[in-house]
Amino acid sequence: MLPTSIMWKTVSEDCNLACDYCYYSSCQGQLTGKIRMIEDDLLQKVIIQMMGGSQGSVSFAWQGGEPLLSGLPFFERVVQLQSYYAPPNTLISNALQTNGTLLNAKWAEFFRKYSFLIGVSVDGPEHIHNKRRKTGSGAGSYALVMKGIEELRRAKVDFNVLMVIHEDNVEKAGVLMEWLEQEQIDYVQFIPCMDFRSQEVSAAGKYLITPEQYGRFLCEAFDIWYREGTPRISVRFFDNWLQRLVGQEPEACIFREECPSILILEQNGDAYPCDFYIHDDYKLGNAGLESLESLMNSPIWNTFHAQKRQLSNHCMNCEYLHYCHGGCPRNRVGQQQSESPDCDYFCESYRMLYAHGEQRMRKLAKSILKRHQISFPGRNERCICGSGRKAKLCCAR
Ligand code: SF4
Ligand code: SF4
Repeated sequence: MLPTSIMWKTVSEDCNLACDYCYYSSCQGQLTGKIRMIEDDLLQKVIIQMMGGSQGSVSFAWQGGEPLLSGLPFFERVVQLQSYYAPPNTLISNALQTNGTLLNAKWAEFFRKYSFLIGVSVDGPEHIHNKRRKTGSGAGSYALVMKGIEELRRAKVDFNVLMVIHEDNVEKAGVLMEWLEQEQIDYVQFIPCMDFRSQEVSAAGKYLITPEQYGRFLCEAFDIWYREGTPRISVRFFDNWLQRLVGQEPEACIFREECPSILILEQNGDAYPCDFYIHDDYKLGNAGLESLESLMNSPIWNTFHAQKRQLSNHCMNCEYLHYCHGGCPRNRVGQQQSESPDCDYFCESYRMLYAHGEQRMRKLAKSILKRHQISFPGRNERCICGSGRKAKLCCAR
């Protein structure tokens, strides 16, 4: 078995920004030595295997640090190897997450040509963004990021925005939604800010916002997003919920029953099962020394996958379990003393949102099904949303 996708930490922790909440990079925006690069042999070895085992599609995600620090020639080599080794009619998808400050016309043209999907991190309007997302010298990065977004727009590159939700914007859902509207950004993902490093897997979760704050944020954003059942912007959390309600599997890992089998590679080839589990206890091996297949056969996957399935009594008895599936196991660490012991730290946030928006979301899901002429299950059949209840006692009420 091969991974469904590879997420590669292209330049390891190297980054030109010093965002104070970063869970991964520790270089504080100070790039003194040579940028850490993926060796060509390693790159080639991984691409050959992924292409060799492709079932019609192959997907790569490039992350950092800041992946653009690896330079355009590196990514030209990536697409060259991908197209050389891809079997005929293979759909190759590349996604790249960037802080946006190094984007220019050349990068944008390259991304358009090879259909990269770009994620840009922006925390909202300038006065919010610049508080936390600073360069190594302490200056705000907003102007550079927005210039980068302009380049993407000019070249017609598909992009979305990742917004970290922290103390400075959690009470400002209205401001953030208005900013998205003003800037005509169509896709956004909210990420509640954590205060632990992904390399410290057993440390109790520490977060910069409370579950109640995040819950209020989600409810307010939802009210603005819903627009009488005609949302304009795609908000990843709400879209995933909707996916479940129209009978599809959500794409985001935290809403799925199982953590996906994506391989996270460090720049040097060290392999892990998840971006939040970059630790020796979860190291599957090294892609330079072992085949991807043998990394996927590591018994560590069993330990890793078992965590998501180990649900607390709270979750087992929760009316929203079919939407949430217990959230993210990393967010459960150290939650024994909380209101919802052994649940995801943001359990209360999720429950607030589900209670607040469920009726409207069901209505929206029904109208989507109708528009696509997908018939709703009979009243006595199992509901399409995965609750296990009869439709008449669930979404068909
Ligand atoms: S909402 Fe809370 S209790 Fe319900 S499944 Fe999610 S984490 Fe568990
Ligand atoms: S542990 Fe959390 S972040 Fe990692 S794959 Fe599972 S749900 Fe996703």
